[in-house]
Amino acid sequence: MNKSDLLSLFSSDYKKYYHVSLFDRLGFARQKCTLCGRCFWSILHKDICPDHENYSFIGNPPTTKRLSYTQTWSEISKYFRKNGHHIVSRYPVVCRWREDLYYTIASIVDFQRIAENQVIFEIPKNPLIVPQMCLRFNDIENVGSTGRHYTSFCMIGQTCDADSPGGYWKDRCIDLDFGLLVDVLGIPPTEITFVEDVWIGAGAFGSSLEYFVRGLELGNAVFTEFEGTETDYRVMKNKIIDMGAGLERLSWITNGTSTSYDCTFDHVLGKILDQNQVNFSNALGSENRINDLLSDYFSKVSSKLEVNNDISLTRKQVAKEMGIEVSKLNEIVVPFESLYTIIDHVRTLVFAISDGSLPSNVGGGYNLRVILRRTLSLLKQLRFDLKITDVVDLHIEHLASIYPELKDFRDDIHTILKIESERFLETQNRITNITSKIKKQKNKLNIDDLLRLYESDGVTPDYLVENGLLDAIPSNFYTRLAEIHSTNKGQKVESNKLNFKEDIDFTSFEKTKLIYYENPLQFVFSAKVVKVFDGNYVVLDRTSFYPRGGGQEPDHGFIGSNRVDNVIKLRDIVIHHVDGECNAKEGDILSCVVDRERRYAITRNHTSTHIVNHASKSVLGSWVWQNSAFKEEKYARLDITHHSSLSRQEMQAIEKRANDIVRQNLPVSIDFYERGIAEQNYGFTIYQGGVVPSNNVRIVKVGALDIEACGGTHVFYTGEIGLIKILKTERIQDGVVRIEFVAGANALDRVQSQDDQVHSLAARLGTSREKLLETLSKTLSDLDKSKKKLKNLLRSTSPLFIEKVIKESKRLDLPHNNNTKTLRFYLNNDENHDEEFHLAAGKLSTERDDDLVYIGIISQEAKAIKIVVFCGKVAANVIGANAIAGAIAKSFGGSGGGTIHFGQGGGNFLEKINIFEGNLPDLLRNLLVSKS
Ligand SMILES: [Zn+2]
Ligand SMILES: [Zn+2]
Repeated sequence: MNKSDLLSLFSSDYKKYYHVSLFDRLGFARQKCTLCGRCFWSILHKDICPDHENYSFIGNPPTTKRLSYTQTWSEISKYFRKNGHHIVSRYPVVCRWREDLYYTIASIVDFQRIAENQVIFEIPKNPLIVPQMCLRFNDIENVGSTGRHYTSFCMIGQTCDADSPGGYWKDRCIDLDFGLLVDVLGIPPTEITFVEDVWIGAGAFGSSLEYFVRGLELGNAVFTEFEGTETDYRVMKNKIIDMGAGLERLSWITNGTSTSYDCTFDHVLGKILDQNQVNFSNALGSENRINDLLSDYFSKVSSKLEVNNDISLTRKQVAKEMGIEVSKLNEIVVPFESLYTIIDHVRTLVFAISDGSLPSNVGGGYNLRVILRRTLSLLKQLRFDLKITDVVDLHIEHLASIYPELKDFRDDIHTILKIESERFLETQNRITNITSKIKKQKNKLNIDDLLRLYESDGVTPDYLVENGLLDAIPSNFYTRLAEIHSTNKGQKVESNKLNFKEDIDFTSFEKTKLIYYENPLQFVFSAKVVKVFDGNYVVLDRTSFYPRGGGQEPDHGFIGSNRVDNVIKLRDIVIHHVDGECNAKEGDILSCVVDRERRYAITRNHTSTHIVNHASKSVLGSWVWQNSAFKEEKYARLDITHHSSLSRQEMQAIEKRANDIVRQNLPVSIDFYERGIAEQNYGFTIYQGGVVPSNNVRIVKVGALDIEACGGTHVFYTGEIGLIKILKTERIQDGVVRIEFVAGANALDRVQSQDDQVHSLAARLGTSREKLLETLSKTLSDLDKSKKKLKNLLRSTSPLFIEKVIKESKRLDLPHNNNTKTLRFYLNNDENHDEEFHLAAGKLSTERDDDLVYIGIISQEAKAIKIVVFCGKVAANVIGANAIAGAIAKSFGGSGGGTIHFGQGGGNFLEKINIFEGNLPDLLRNLLVSKS
């Protein structure tokens, strides 16, 4: 069953699915659209549904109230609070609680958790509303042009669990939403149309009523009552009300401005226009005339442009309708479109960076870089006195009443945008070269060319337009780009899946009792064997063995006399792998021992990753999140999100901060919380290690500094760690830096071994460690000097050596074209001569003597040889340096090649070198025989 089947199913039983009590009370009648057949409810009689209506509120709003963007939210929140709703702060736009999404795309996503492909609704307060900022990158090109598309928008979520205390169902939901439109916004009831629809989400669906005023959809009340798929579903025990309404639209309907941007960004836009004293009226007619023209234009465009329609085509049509030349229209419209786009994109960056997402070339950060570069290009074209960070500040100021938290991130947002802008500028030079090449080509650029230029060279299409290399950006460019970089994370591969030979039904087993949580210090325990399979896998009824998980390596030890070398967990069952055939039987009670030293080393490393994570964030900035982590006995690493490689100072500052925390000897506490409560209490920074699949969340706190959801083992006090030593840091991909470190006794070992190295270095150089650097630089400069000396010596002696080569070369008679040709050869395997020497001597001597073959053999570390062969002009044509090099290399078990003038090769079997010398004339003669 697809969406339209479902709609006709619900519509055929409309009394059950759509007929709410308000309709009877106020005389809303059900009507059917004569154009598309959809059913809708309105007080006035109408032939067509709102889908076909123009945006007649533009320039003529249906209400006398004029609510600014932030005022609209404040009125809405007052109204819902009065009606018994809790106001919940927005959730992060970076969706860390779902494995399938990078960004929060709708308000309901806040309350959805996915476990085993099932969506679970967790509503922290009932009922509630939330001003949820949502990010969507699927129609970037429409932003700024249609008057209503955004990459970020505020979805007011009115959400409740209908079947829990405080909850309500359709009648009350629509009563409240009607009140919102009529009492809060002042819209006359006759202006409101409810359209019957369905909503299908992740693992759940239901009927919905969309409400429209003068052609503009203002909200959609979804009644989620079925879980499962459209073919296999059941009624939910706890039904969900999920009404979503765009704050941008609610404010727009009361203002009737040309575009929704004009009221959404009123403060930001106004300041920018004031500061830049934009005065279009001089050149293009009076200000009123311009405003009228913009209103007229956008009201026509808004109703014409459905998603992905061609904007330039639409503009041509509208220009014709308006009786104005396209070029003239562009002159007025394009700067506004650019400005709207810039403001939208910067708002998205403000939220995304505040919530810890960085522009990059991978994952969700990809879209951020796309819009950032687009913004920088547009800013340049616009030639305003406007920096991207100015727009950031205006947004933060404007949104302070709804999102006061943004100001805390102001400096970090500036830092990131400055770094990214500089990077973009750096690529400009390269881009200039590339574009000058394009200019020389005659072919027109197609969309694939544009994508390639963007992907591999960072050339934005805006830049190409600006430089006259492209007429217009293809309307689907950004959509195609988004397709290449899917906005979904995709499912992670489960790493614990093993291919057992035996088919085991693990669901029939009881949960393994986890002693390592109850009593982390119990290393000796007895347990009953539940199952032995595949020869060396053992399941026990209880275990102290920590299984691999959350980047922590498993415990080792013994089960009876069997050595445990790997432990994994499948759902609730812990499976031990033993080295060799397991000699235990099901039902045996065995005594087991966990390797305490190994566990303790891993445990110290694990708590250290939390500490290093916190230290990195406090040293570098709020954008630092754990990307992944790994901790084993002698080594740990933490990958963090960060924009650049770490300097040595930054690394040392992190190390210092981490060791401060160690020395403070802070308590590490572990408590379990219900997931929703943990999120509300500690925020989403608890998800450093990723999504927690269970509703019962284990919260690990290092003092009050670092609070994370984590299933690993931890020390009781940070002082137990002793020392954290960072070994190395490395930028492993765009936006991710790896920090490798060791903790505890291993850290001391490492420091001592480094100290040993310094000690022996000093001894070898015959100096003290205090004078080590001084001595080393003197030694290095001495070495440089001797190298120079040697080169000079070689240069002065080589003419003599060339004479010697020619004089001492041996005669070689070769069969050639039924005749005998006489050449000469010189074999040089003097171990004092290196490759450079041979290259010089071989070249010079064969330039002097056309009949000469120069063969140099260099032995490398007494294990292998390298062969270089030069032939004079005549010798080259008779026999060829490449053939000689190949034949010699072959006789040493290697291979070679080159040109007839110069050949080289390599081989081993060094012991043959003495015999080889005597055999060489034959080898060369044979070569020619086989050649002819
Ligand atoms: Zn219709
Ligand atoms: Zn952890």
